[in-house]
Amino acid sequence: MSTVTTPTSPTFEIHLSDTPASTAEREAALAAPRFGVAFTDHMARISWTQDAGWTHRRVEKYGPLQLDPATAVLHYGQEVFEGLKAYRYPDGTVWSFRPEANAARFARSAYRLALPELPEADFLGAIKALVEVDRAWIPPGDETSLYLRPFMYASEPFLGVRPSLEAEFLVIASPVGPYFAGGVTPVSIWVSREYARAGSGGTGAAKCGGNYAASLLPQQQAHAKGFDQVCFLDARTGTQLEELGGMNIVVVRADGSVVTPPLSGTILEGVTRASILTLLAEAGHEVAERPLLLEELRAGLADGSVTEVFACGTAAVMTPIGRLASDDFDLVVGDGTAGPVTTRIRAQLTDIQYGRASDSHGWMHRLV
Ligand SMILES: *Cc1c(COP(=O)(O)O)cnc(C)c1O
Repeated sequence: MSTVTTPTSPTFEIHLSDTPASTAEREAALAAPRFGVAFTDHMARISWTQDAGWTHRRVEKYGPLQLDPATAVLHYGQEVFEGLKAYRYPDGTVWSFRPEANAARFARSAYRLALPELPEADFLGAIKALVEVDRAWIPPGDETSLYLRPFMYASEPFLGVRPSLEAEFLVIASPVGPYFAGGVTPVSIWVSREYARAGSGGTGAAKCGGNYAASLLPQQQAHAKGFDQVCFLDARTGTQLEELGGMNIVVVRADGSVVTPPLSGTILEGVTRASILTLLAEAGHEVAERPLLLEELRAGLADGSVTEVFACGTAAVMTPIGRLASDDFDLVVGDGTAGPVTTRIRAQLTDIQYGRASDSHGWMHRLV
């Protein structure tokens, strides 16, 4: 056993796996990375109880969790998660993109779900400790990364309805290849009129499994109609665009101005969204965070005053939307291919993430 310490991060005990993948197995996994299917040899972990607080910081062998059938999360869905990536630069160093923002959001999500707030130093320390141990799992090649999935669940075996007095925080990691292996391809979007993702006062601004659970049926139905993703409208009036199941949405107008729904409490505050809005403003685009009426978007697509629509999030960075439809309309965005603003900002952001462009915003955080 060894330990990893840095001046800013707490100490994690390192318990190396006794059954790590062989070099050949790992190289085979990395040659064709399967996001969310293959995982690295280890996971980082911190335990919490109301009495003792956060204890037992460790990196241990990746493997199944043993859960009592009464474990609270299995019954009441008290769970939050995050998603971010580790990028290896040509010089061998490993970096992540604005992980402090993920740490802060994780604490806000936990607060909303009545889970304990994990200190930033523990969040950053856990991903650093895991990436140090499993750095060989970052795939070689362009636009690849190691996807990091921090999450926390209510682990107390108790069926009473109250916040759990015990919680587990873990980080697992999965190697990912380029999201758009064959070039950036637009997706088709079904606008759901039947289902909402989040309501005012609910958990829409928290990154929690429950929000995703609520989005799966509409997603499945949209798939059956031949669409890639669902866009949700506000639950109160059903007239304003909110976001997709796991990505924020942005509209680009012919005059160069950009509109995206505001952080009203029912959408997730994307780190990608915030970063893109910064880059757009710096590039001279007028950026408005304001309610975006479906009617307005439909009219803009019909008369050409809206030229691009894209979705954004950590996994795909930016995904052009090529088609938008619902029961009573079916519209192509621009010429149905990735537009110039989407293409340019996406390149600018990924250049920063992969260290190809200077990081003038101080967004990159070195892990290894
Ligand atoms: C994670 C997530 C996003 C995107 O957030 P990023 O920080 O950009 O990855 C958007 N919407 C929802 C619902 C999400 O869960």
